[in-house]
Amino acid sequence: MTTWGDQPLRLRFAPSPTGSLHVGGARTALFNYLLAKRSGGSFILRIEDTDASRNRRESEAAVLDDLHWLGLSWDEGPDVGGPYGPYRQSERAELYAAAAAELLARGAVYECFCSADELAREQSEQKAAGIIATRYQGRCATLSVEQRATLRAEGRNPALRFRIPPGQTVVSDLVHGPVTFEHAILGDFVVVRSTGVPTYNFAAAFDDAQMAIDVVVRGDEHLSNTPLQLLVLQALGLPAPRYAHVPLILNEDHQKLSKRHQTVGVAEYRKEGYLASALRDHLALLGWSPGDEREHFTLAELTSEFSLERVGRSASVYNAARLRAFNARALRSLAPDELRGLIAQWLREAGYHRFAEGPALERFVEAYGAEITTLGEVVGFARRLDEMPEATPELRQRLSDPLVRSYLLALLEGAQADPAAFVREPKVLVAPSAKQVGLAPKLAYEALRLAVSGTAHGAPLKLVLDLVGEEQVLERLRVATHLTPA
Ligand code: GLU
Repeated sequence: MTTWGDQPLRLRFAPSPTGSLHVGGARTALFNYLLAKRSGGSFILRIEDTDASRNRRESEAAVLDDLHWLGLSWDEGPDVGGPYGPYRQSERAELYAAAAAELLARGAVYECFCSADELAREQSEQKAAGIIATRYQGRCATLSVEQRATLRAEGRNPALRFRIPPGQTVVSDLVHGPVTFEHAILGDFVVVRSTGVPTYNFAAAFDDAQMAIDVVVRGDEHLSNTPLQLLVLQALGLPAPRYAHVPLILNEDHQKLSKRHQTVGVAEYRKEGYLASALRDHLALLGWSPGDEREHFTLAELTSEFSLERVGRSASVYNAARLRAFNARALRSLAPDELRGLIAQWLREAGYHRFAEGPALERFVEAYGAEITTLGEVVGFARRLDEMPEATPELRQRLSDPLVRSYLLALLEGAQADPAAFVREPKVLVAPSAKQVGLAPKLAYEALRLAVSGTAHGAPLKLVLDLVGEEQVLERLRVATHLTPA
């Protein structure tokens, strides 16, 4: 049982800004946010950017932007400050140096002079001996003062390694329950590299304590780091947070979700025109269950209902089709004005200003508003209205059938006489023109649509013709009557 009482809790999200925010990170952020807010506490954003070569300020900005878009605002962070700052690890070097000195003074860490080559050799020797979980053998654990001085004189800079004591560590995980780690399988690990840069396990553990974090929610992949972080905190005499490791997210083939195989970036979903509320619903349901069949929640509902008790232990499956369905539903549930406004915004941003206001916008929304599953689809529809359909072999095949051609010629003749009337009420001309040449009405309508928009089916014809515009309708019919078979 996770009983917190009424205490306001501090939780953090600690991304490494090496790319944009992905689905797994977004879910972690959401869960931390929800627990913090549910308790009336604080949500803290900490940027883990000690690995200078892989981190970029642009990635940090992108992550912040994606979090804002998801509606997850933080109370403390690199941009807003707060009482436990700085909130970028790259700006906390002095704090880490002081903590590392403390560890050294207490004998909890020792200087390790092993070079990368020596470590690699040690590792391959262990592998050759059939050891799978290779670990540092402690070569520098017992160096004398003189030996250290000699190595230093050789120009070697030491790393600091944590001296793992005998025994075991039990992680009382809030999702998994107690998990025991025998120290015998943990190698002495580096807390500060020879370059002076702290490692993740040291910096994150120290920061969690220094920032007074109560609960850490993060992905399962960090469960095995937790005993190391607990050991660091113990050695420093600092309080440890409680940990909740949430299950992996798998793809539909039950493999680890990967950027290579599917869209996993929050930014990509934004670009495709997903609504934050739909993505949030999907993220919330990756691992958490409300205990009933509901699939849609406001952020306030999630905040008041979310609990770790309802987070399962087994991996959750990321389902792109489900997210799409959520998005379609979210679009349908928008107020008409809001949907119209969003469609207009997407049209404007794509450069289709002529559909983005006035009666054209009304017609556009009437034609496609109920059909779209993402806002990005709006752009495809606008393009089809705006551009002459491409004369694909299939289009040529269908439109250059002699019967269809005669019908289109008849139709064109009638339309030229009064284009406005044709666009307003196409059936007045379609029916007699088709009859005149002996073409079935269904094929006649399809041919007109194909000629004007490149597809045989879709939004109400009157709306399509009106949006394409009289002049272009005539032009496209003219072109269609000249198509040669593929
Ligand atoms: N920077 C780490 C990551 O992005 C944070 C892990 C943690 O939450 O402790 O995986």
